[in-house]
Amino acid sequence: MMEKLEYLVNGAKYDAACTSSGADRKAEPGGIGSAVSGGCCHSFAADGRCISLLKVLMTNACIYDCAYCVNRRSNDIPRVTFTPEELAELTIQFYRRNYIEGLFLSSGVLRSPDYTMERMIRVVELLRVQYRFQGYIHAKTIPGASPELVWQLGVLADRLSVNIEFPSEQSLRQLAPDKTRQAILAPMGQMHQWMQGNRQALEIQAPAHRLPAARRAAPRFATAGQATQMIIGATPESDYQILRLAQGLYHKYELKRVFYSAYIPVLEHSLLPALDTKPPLLREHRLYQADFLLRQYHFAAEELLAPEAPNFNPYLDPKCNWALLHPEFFPIDVQRAGKETLLRVPGIGSRSATRIVAERRSVKLDFAALKRMGVVLKRAQYFILAADHPRGLHLPGETVARALIDPKIFAFGMEQLSLFSPGGLGLPGAGDVKNLREATEEAVLVMGRSAYA
Ligand code: SF4
Repeated sequence: MMEKLEYLVNGAKYDAACTSSGADRKAEPGGIGSAVSGGCCHSFAADGRCISLLKVLMTNACIYDCAYCVNRRSNDIPRVTFTPEELAELTIQFYRRNYIEGLFLSSGVLRSPDYTMERMIRVVELLRVQYRFQGYIHAKTIPGASPELVWQLGVLADRLSVNIEFPSEQSLRQLAPDKTRQAILAPMGQMHQWMQGNRQALEIQAPAHRLPAARRAAPRFATAGQATQMIIGATPESDYQILRLAQGLYHKYELKRVFYSAYIPVLEHSLLPALDTKPPLLREHRLYQADFLLRQYHFAAEELLAPEAPNFNPYLDPKCNWALLHPEFFPIDVQRAGKETLLRVPGIGSRSATRIVAERRSVKLDFAALKRMGVVLKRAQYFILAADHPRGLHLPGETVARALIDPKIFAFGMEQLSLFSPGGLGLPGAGDVKNLREATEEAVLVMGRSAYA
């Protein structure tokens, strides 16, 4: 059993799409576990809590042959499969020993999508019904599975996800020939409809006693919503294409999260990066930052990037980069600007914007007061008017760009930057940038296309 576990936990480690944000269900009498406290991987809930999940495959046997996947059918590795009973028992044992708070269940495709889904449903059913486990469960749906089975799984699990895999249909066709964009988007659309049904049921439930019995008893579908994952850096799509796709998925299917997974080469393939290519972690980081701007700060992908400048500046976070490219938007008067406008200022987040709006009638907003409210002046000072700086700092864009270089780029290793080098940016090759001074020069070089230049 432990040997199986080792294989199947390792097989699941490339999947990034597992956070538990959105589940809010307390244990009922006689049940164990609670999705409120929950989420052996660590994930982060929407409120920033760190939660632990058993992240495991039901099997690493697969009839599909995705070029990027260690479990693909043509890869010669030992194959192991949990029975539903084994996996349910293991999960509950781990839970009782306090190792985990929930389960993230995925699987290779065993025999057929429907057969695999039936076994996954059985695992979750055993946990929910036999063990009365009420903790968080995130399950992957298998592309091509019947809608009835997706429904059954969604009624039992808190969150479902189906991986979009690649930013373009062409890359999907080339690297995952057994999957189609349609087989991925169809369940996404169907799940979205069922989730809207949850919402309508909740709206009707306001006067619960007046709700027809059948409606009251109606099962609710994946109450923590759905998510997806895209592999980054294995294929030639730009950040602009990736972000536009994510934006479309958020709008059309109301996904809770799009996860970006820096490609880790595990197998040789003529269409994939060489085995010694480092995963593009800095690029992944920039995409997560930009994704946050889409979801929380109402930015549009088209504001952050454009077809003629389709990749993020590796040296600056996307919000600083946007601000430097839009000097016409600044400086912002913190005493008067609305919250939406304040959120556009680097160094002002949601909490500090709320405090500024709430307190500015009674507090003089000078730099010291803004700092107390949580504003990061190191970034914000270049873009605002405050009581003690009524005319703003008025520094040249290049000087500001130099001051805003993201020191975290070094945490990702400077080799990462080489992934941005080919093509449009004209950056130096791998290993050419060795220190902050050179990074600063390169950042300014990238910004050379900006409005201040
Ligand atoms: S379907 Fe593709 S990605 Fe999923 S386990 Fe099988 S080969 Fe891997």
